[in-house]
Amino acid sequence: MLIDGQTAPCVSEESLEIRNPSSGVVIGQLAAGGEEDIDRAVRAARAAFEGPWSSWTPYERQALLYRVHELMDRNFDELAEIESVDMGAPISKTRATKASVLKMILFFASQSSNIAGETLQNGLPGEVVTMSLKAPVGVVGGIIPWNGPLGSQWWLLGTVLATGCTTVLKPAEDASLSVLRVAELLHEAGLPPGVVNVVTGRGDVAGAALARHSGVDRIAFTGSTETGRKIIDASKVNIKKLQLELGGKSPDIIFADADLDKAVQGAAMGVFANSGQICFAGTRVFVQREIVKEFCERAAFFARSIKVGHSLDPEAQLGPLISNDQLEKVMSYVQIGANEGAQLVCGGERLQGSLADGYFVSPTVFADVHNDMRIAQEEIFGPVMSVIPFDTVEDAITKGNATEFGLGGAVWTRDISKALRVVKGIHTGVMWVNCYGLIDPLVGFGGTKMSGYGAKGGRAHLDTYLYSKCVYINT
Ligand code: ADP
Repeated sequence: MLIDGQTAPCVSEESLEIRNPSSGVVIGQLAAGGEEDIDRAVRAARAAFEGPWSSWTPYERQALLYRVHELMDRNFDELAEIESVDMGAPISKTRATKASVLKMILFFASQSSNIAGETLQNGLPGEVVTMSLKAPVGVVGGIIPWNGPLGSQWWLLGTVLATGCTTVLKPAEDASLSVLRVAELLHEAGLPPGVVNVVTGRGDVAGAALARHSGVDRIAFTGSTETGRKIIDASKVNIKKLQLELGGKSPDIIFADADLDKAVQGAAMGVFANSGQICFAGTRVFVQREIVKEFCERAAFFARSIKVGHSLDPEAQLGPLISNDQLEKVMSYVQIGANEGAQLVCGGERLQGSLADGYFVSPTVFADVHNDMRIAQEEIFGPVMSVIPFDTVEDAITKGNATEFGLGGAVWTRDISKALRVVKGIHTGVMWVNCYGLIDPLVGFGGTKMSGYGAKGGRAHLDTYLYSKCVYINT
């Protein structure tokens, strides 16, 4: 772990096994942090927040972020390899995240000198000058999942460094290594001790201790809706501010007039990318009835052409699932889909041969899915596409909204007014038109309904790590 700028063992000396999901082989041990470790890290974060870090000017924080940018740029190949071995994403994909990570760091660097309150009018008697100041909220607990920490940790780290907050970050037990290495690089770039602390360990132990610690002012959480509920409960101890990015079951709506070459690939990768382990994966694919047969054939052809392989195989387009538990969960949903009467068009098998020891499943397409089947309602977090027919724009909107989640969604059509009707009609935090999964920190994304709250990206994102202080000056 990394606490107060120092590599630290955990108090209990217990550890968790780290497995390479491509081979199932144990590649290391991770400190299983607990309550005392979290407490030590929170104290370090508080001391740093109250200490010299609080007097860093916006320009100094910006310059630090530029140094971090340079170090990330120089060390990215190593980080990509760590991430691929640790969580299974193919090396071509983890290397490709470099552009988006560097862009995020530049975005947050620009924001650190762009924090502003307001002078405000008032109706008070006499000469009273009024204004609002922006101040950092304090110690932020970051709890992140395993599906892509190399990129996702930057929503937290970038904002903490830009705003002058401090953090204790609890990465997922299945993918902590890139977070630990990034924390080392931050210190190499000149970050003062205690500003960023990393405590590894189990969610229900270290994560829960962080969520209920009364020295933490805010929690930024990405993970399951079930855990999100526990975080909300724990937050009441000291009325923590929360940002929650939770589960999804996003609709991807394909009209008969769409450019099918693009729509088939786009929708397929909208589900299969990262082996389906993306919260905004477009797993419910609504296809206009007259093209359902053609779409399914083409989607199956595309799915079979995807190269699934060991995460360090440079040709691999998809890697394994994160763990054996996740593999079993995905395979059980394949069975549930078949039992519910959906038609398995392709995939749904655990891969054998040289991949038999890893947690690989072939990209899967189900046709004849009804919106009320479990495979159309529950988050599977695997490469499983459910194709559901629809007839009209209204039908697509009604079916698209028939879920408890509201994270992502897309529409494919050549008719822009039809696209905009769908964009307006679907209740999600982000909608894509004729594309899937594009994200830029200047624009952001977020969720509504049971997918959470507190959008990421843009000025609004920075504001959630700040609070406003109203000042009245009697002159
Ligand atoms: P996923 O299904 O993506 O694993 P989780 O919500 O279980 O989603 O995990 C996301 C993150 O939340 C991980 O870092 C995990 O360790 C952490 N976590 C799990 N349970 C808890 C909990 N009770 N309190 C706080 N954090 C938790």
